[in-house]
Amino acid sequence: MSLLVQKYGGTSVGSPERIIAVAQRVKKSVDDGNQVVVVVSAMSGETNRLIGLAGEISKQPKPREMDVLVSTGEQVTTALLCMALGELGQEARSYTGAQAGIRTDNSYSKARITDINTEKVMADLNKGRVVVIAGFQGINDEGDVTTLGRGGSDTSAVAMAAALKADECQIYTDVDGVYTTDPRVVPNARRMSRVTFEEMLEMASLGSKVLQIRAVEFAGKYNVTLRVLSSFTEGEGTLITTDNEDNALEQALISGIAFNRDEAQITIRGVPDTPGIAHAIVGPVANANVEVDMIVQNVSGDNITDFTFTVNRIDYDKTYSIVQQLATDLGAADMSGRTDIAKVSIVGVGMRSHAGIASTMFEALAKEAINILMISTSEIKISVLIDEKYLELAVRTLHETFELSETQQS
Ligand code: ASP
Ligand code: MG
Repeated sequence: MSLLVQKYGGTSVGSPERIIAVAQRVKKSVDDGNQVVVVVSAMSGETNRLIGLAGEISKQPKPREMDVLVSTGEQVTTALLCMALGELGQEARSYTGAQAGIRTDNSYSKARITDINTEKVMADLNKGRVVVIAGFQGINDEGDVTTLGRGGSDTSAVAMAAALKADECQIYTDVDGVYTTDPRVVPNARRMSRVTFEEMLEMASLGSKVLQIRAVEFAGKYNVTLRVLSSFTEGEGTLITTDNEDNALEQALISGIAFNRDEAQITIRGVPDTPGIAHAIVGPVANANVEVDMIVQNVSGDNITDFTFTVNRIDYDKTYSIVQQLATDLGAADMSGRTDIAKVSIVGVGMRSHAGIASTMFEALAKEAINILMISTSEIKISVLIDEKYLELAVRTLHETFELSETQQS
C-alpha cells in the first residue's frame, strides 16, 4: 500500500463539477489500494476575490486579518470535496491547516512551516478515511491563522508529504507536466517524463511557473518524490527526482530551454578599477532590495573599467536612479540602460559531464545572427542576454539544436 499526497490547484477545483471529478480521481486512487491525503487550493479566482474585498474596506488591512480572510477560500474547497467523496461512498474528513497540525512562524502572508504534527491525519488514514487539508495555511505559536504566500498550497502538500513520509507527492494542475520549453513559443515542445530538482529550480526561477519555487526547494531538501500531472487528462506527468546514477544514463544533455522577458540592463562606464568598486556599485542596489542577476566587469585598460549588470524590469527605474547618483559620486564617464532585452538559458544536469555545449549554443545563435549581450554560466545552466525581439527565434533555434522536440526524440 502506498501513501500518496495529492494536491489539486485552483482550476482543478474551480467548479462543483470539477470538484466532483477530483473526488472521482481520489476515490480511484483509494480503490487502487492507496492511502490518500489531499491538499486543496481555493476555487480559481477566489483568493483574488477575497483580496479585492479587503481592498474595498481598507488600504492597509492588518496582516493578521488579511490571513484570516484569504485562508477561507481553501476551507470551502475542503468541505465541498469531502461532500463529493461522501456521495461516492468514500469516507473523508476535512481539516484546516491548523487542525491538520501545520505549525508556522509568525510572518503573516509569507509564513514558513516549522513543524507538522501528523497524529490526527495518520489516525484517520488508518481508519480508511481520505483526509482533505486546506492548503496555503497553518497556525502560529499564538494560535493565529497564517498563510504561506501566493501559490503556497504546493508547499503545504510537499511539507505534508515529507512529514508523513509519503511515497509520492502528486501536484495536479491544468497542464499535463513540465515541458522542455513553453509550448506557446515552441508548439512541438515535449513533456519531460522526468527532471531533477536542480533542473526544475533553474527552470522555475527562469519563468516556467508550474510549481511554486519554495515547494521545489522543500521537496529537494527533504527528498520528497514529486510528480506534476493534469487533473483534466490521464497521463504519467513529469516526475521530479534527485540526480542519481540510475537515471544519469537516460539523462539528456540539455533538459530544457528557459527564458525570461522581465530583464533590464544597466551599464556604468569609466569608473576607477580599484578594489571595492563592484561593492560600491552593487551594494547600494542590493540595499534597496533589488536583486542583481548577471554581472560583467570589463577588463580595463588604463585603470578605468565598465560595469554592466541586470535586474528585474520592475526594478529598472529605481535602480537607474540609484546608479545615476553613484555615477556622479564615483566620477564615472557616463551610464546607460535598456529594458528591451531578454534572457534565454539552456538547462541540463548532463552539462556537468560534457564539454563544448556553450560553443554549440553560441554557434546556433550566430547562425541566426542573434547578438549575445551578456553570458553567465553555472554547472547546469548557460544563460545569454539578447535583444528581446529575437527571444522567440532564439528559443526555437536552441530547442531545435539540442533536439528537444517530440519528433527529434522519437
Ligand atoms: N489560493 C492561494 C493562491 O491563490 C494558494 C494556492 O492556490 O496555492 O495563491
Ligand atoms: Mg495555485
